[in-house]
Amino acid sequence: MSQKRDYYEVLGVSKNADESEIKKAYRKLALKYHPDKNPDDASAEEKFKEAAEAYEVLSNSEKKAQYDRFGHAGMGGQGGFGGGMNMDDIFSQFGDIFGNAFGGGGSFGGSRGGSRAARGTNLRVKIKLTLEEVADGVKKKIKVNKLVNAPGVTFKNCQTCNGSGRITRVQQTFIGAMQTQSTCPTCQGAGKMIDTKPGDADAQGLKRQEEVIEIEIPAGVEEGMQLSVTGKGNAGPFNGVPGDLIVLIEETEHPDLKRDGENLHYEAFVNFVDAVIGESIEIPTVSGKVKIKVDPGTQSGKVLRLKGKGLPHVQRYGNGDLFVHINVWTPQKISKEEREILEKLRDSENFKPHPDKNDRNFFSRMKDMFN
Ligand SMILES: [Zn+2]
Repeated sequence: MSQKRDYYEVLGVSKNADESEIKKAYRKLALKYHPDKNPDDASAEEKFKEAAEAYEVLSNSEKKAQYDRFGHAGMGGQGGFGGGMNMDDIFSQFGDIFGNAFGGGGSFGGSRGGSRAARGTNLRVKIKLTLEEVADGVKKKIKVNKLVNAPGVTFKNCQTCNGSGRITRVQQTFIGAMQTQSTCPTCQGAGKMIDTKPGDADAQGLKRQEEVIEIEIPAGVEEGMQLSVTGKGNAGPFNGVPGDLIVLIEETEHPDLKRDGENLHYEAFVNFVDAVIGESIEIPTVSGKVKIKVDPGTQSGKVLRLKGKGLPHVQRYGNGDLFVHINVWTPQKISKEEREILEKLRDSENFKPHPDKNDRNFFSRMKDMFN
């Protein structure tokens, strides 16, 4: 397909067509171009798919609104239909169009599919990570209890479907005799059955077993993210395709650092004398402690930005920053001698607050921080 046709044009309806008109138009086209009625006619199959795709979008109010606003460009990326629909999707859609006319909406006409290996279920695990692990990425070994192919199991062709995985029936319908195909109930589509099995294997040739799986977690992941490791889930029935391992990321709270996306924040408490005279202080980071300089005359509330000392981006180069929030610590208990010293300083001209514009303007400081 070089140029995608307008969906309304494909179905031959106006932009104002309502739900039942759209359904009716699609039903007509689906019957006309159905592969069982047009065997080995590639152009009919193309039209059949085109109509199914148009219907899939226009029958769904959300997708329709998206399409009305953005056209075909709005359909990409949405788990959309850029690559067209496959036959299985189309036939599974038939249940609501044709009701029970084709035997309870089971897939029909999917004769080109052949047997399909049954797929194992996904396995879900949670992994807790420290910020340090998030910063560097980490390999974790986890123990899972999963279904595996039991050794010693042998298979033979399913006798119900002769190994095709599907059962064909001929049915009388309102447009004449139609072939109906459904998944074989004996082998669930695998086309295979167990011939011999050892005692510990179940009816699908599987058994439960503890297994240690090593998972490589990339740097920069975040609480709530899910990673999927293909093929590491439960084994498929009848020696089928294994499911995936889904890893849910959890983060343990860091004692000192607070995370905000790829940036980190640290509240530093600075001795009041150090804030006046200036001093180096030690700051924790995800890659060990670093020393930073507190300039003489540093005000409480000042924010220092350590570029690149945050966390890595999960999908691109570079790191976030570490923001050090300076809090000048006011002593809560003092001795008599300390009090005497401070009393002497109280009336000094230098100790009278005289904030300049920058000190007053909290918001402009926030702005500086993010530039
Ligand atoms: Zn079968």
